[in-house]
Formats: sequence, C-alpha cells, structure tokens
Amino acid sequence: MRIVKFAALCLASSLLSGCSDTKAAEYSSSFFAMDTYMTFTAYGDNAEQAVNDVKAEISRLERQWSVTDEGSDIYAINHSDGKSVVVNAETAELINFSLEIAQRTDGALDPTIYPLVEAWGFTTEKNKVPTAEELSVLLNNVGYEQVLIDNSTVKLTDGMMLDLGAVGKGYAGDISAELLRKSGVTSALLDIGGNIQAIGSRPDGSNWRLGLRDPVSSGILGIISISDLAVVTSGSYERFFISEDGKKYCHIIDPNNGYPVDNGLLSVTVIADEGRKCDALSTALFVMGAEKAAQHWQQHQDFEMIMISDNGEIHLTKGAAEMFTLSDDFNDMPLIIIQ
Ligand code: AMP
Ligand code: MG
Repeated sequence: MRIVKFAALCLASSLLSGCSDTKAAEYSSSFFAMDTYMTFTAYGDNAEQAVNDVKAEISRLERQWSVTDEGSDIYAINHSDGKSVVVNAETAELINFSLEIAQRTDGALDPTIYPLVEAWGFTTEKNKVPTAEELSVLLNNVGYEQVLIDNSTVKLTDGMMLDLGAVGKGYAGDISAELLRKSGVTSALLDIGGNIQAIGSRPDGSNWRLGLRDPVSSGILGIISISDLAVVTSGSYERFFISEDGKKYCHIIDPNNGYPVDNGLLSVTVIADEGRKCDALSTALFVMGAEKAAQHWQQHQDFEMIMISDNGEIHLTKGAAEMFTLSDDFNDMPLIIIQ
C-alpha cells in the first residue's frame, strides 16, 4: 500500500501579494508541533516576544492534547478503562465544544472517532482496509452521545477513545490569537498546518491574500481576501492511502458507517471568526457532502464556505464569493453560489 501525505493545506501566505512600504517590524518563526508545520508571522515592536510566548503556549497545549504522550489529558481519558478522569479546564472546554458541534452536525463530527481512525491505520501510518465485521464491532465504541462530562471530569464507556484532531489545531489558533492580541499585536498571520488565523489586516492596512489550493493539480485555484478571520480547509487529498486494489481512502471517516468519506467532495474550506469553529465545521461539512453542507449553511448562516467537488464545480456561499477571486488558469470551473 502507498501512503501519501500532503502538507496540510493549500493556503499560501500573505507573501502572495506585493511588498508593503510600511516599516512595521516583522518577526516570523516556523516550527513543528501538533504533528504539523506552523509558521507564525507578527508585526510591530513586540512581535518577537509575543510569537515566542505563543510558541511556548502551543507546546503546552500539545502536551495536554496529544493522543500518544502518556502525560496528556487525552491519553489519560483514552486509557481510563471506563473510569472518570479529571482534566485541565481547557481540555474540558475543547471536549465540550467538540460535543456541541457534534450535536449541531448530527454526529458528522464525532470526537469519539479514534477507534475507527486507528483501525484504518491513520494513527501509525501503517494503513490497512479493515473488514466490514471489524468496523461494525468498532462502531459500537463510537458515539459522542456516550461521553459524560461534568465540569472537568470526563468519563467514557470502556473501549471508547477520543480524537480531537479535527478541532484541536483550530482551538490552538484561537488561544494563540488571543495571546497575541493581549500582547498588543494588531497584525499577524498564523499558519497552523494550513489552518490560517489572521489578526487584523496586513501592516499597511490591506487584506491578507490567501492562495486556495486546487486539490487536483495543487496549483492556486484562487485568492481569498480576508482580515481578522480564520480560514480552515478539510480535504481528502491531505492524507490518504491507496489500497492494493487501487482504491483511495482518506483520513476523514464517516461515523455513520466507519468508512473513509467518499461523497464526491475534494475539499471544504470554512471562513469564520473563530479557528475552532472553522476547524470543526470543515471536517463535519466534508463528512456531510455538498447537499447537506449547503442545507447546514442555509440553516445557520454563521460561517462562509467554499466546496470543491470531483466534477470540477466550486460551490460557495454568498459571503465567500465576495472574498474569493478565481485564478485565470481555472476559469473553466463553474462557480455555484449557495443562496
Ligand atoms: P481535519 O483535518 O480537521 O478535517 O481533521 C481530520 C482528523 O480528524 C483525522 O485525521 C482524524 O484524526 C479525525 N477525524 C476523522 N474523521 C473524523 C470525524 N468524522 N469526526 C471527528 N474527527 C474525525
Ligand atoms: Mg477540522
């Protein structure tokens, strides 16, 4: 079997736009954390100190939420054999938020998906195709409704395990942005493995310009122009493997049947004020598929999205269409506005 892994996203940085003639001091730092590459760029006198403080904060969150670190809250929960575990207040908040979105998306996002992610080998990168029987047994251990949480005490049924991989990086982005703002930073761009979180505008007051990657060619499909927002993409091309019979399986699992999502969508990009919301919703909407995702937007209208499907269509909400400019190379792709 062949395992393919792309750098999490296609969102290029502000460098895509021309030079700025403002003199604001820039400090940029790239590092590996939470299983991904991160680049934090901030402007202003306090930028270096603020970015380094945020890096320390990210390491702390990583130690708290890692599924493999024996000292983490999530490790303690996943090895609790059905007993109650007391966790840090932030971990409890992250779990509560995941459960809220699980409820809101009717279980398309399910933070208890870990046994299935493990069965498909995405935790070890030794991918395999489980049998239908194996999956039906494991599905008994998946179900967000069974998570009991009371303040900071969490209890799972024996055999259940949490995976906050679909939300944790977005949440870390929000905490980082908050910390930077408190340090007086008014212009910064955080790239958390392709999750983008913008603080304010570029130092010259113009919008940040993000390149949205075409899932097929890896070229820049178009530019998203934003300020003070988060932008997160979930896609089947980010992590997948190809089985011996040539079928492609991606890392996002449908909690309804235990199989990797295969519904015609290649990627879903969500734009909203909070990273956690973008991260959780992009995964959930990808599971739902184009039609249900559009209905979800029509019902809630508290986020914007861009969906790319394998028939070459781009479906966008009205607000996203205002922020998005299609590249000339891709102007044969139809843009369909969700009303
Ligand atoms: P993201 O890249 O944010 O879409 O998150 C994908 C990651 O979340 C996967 O690598 C899994 O660890 C986990 N995951 C996969 N399917 C689901 C799901 N349906 N609900 C919640 N988490 C999931
Ligand atoms: Mg996500």
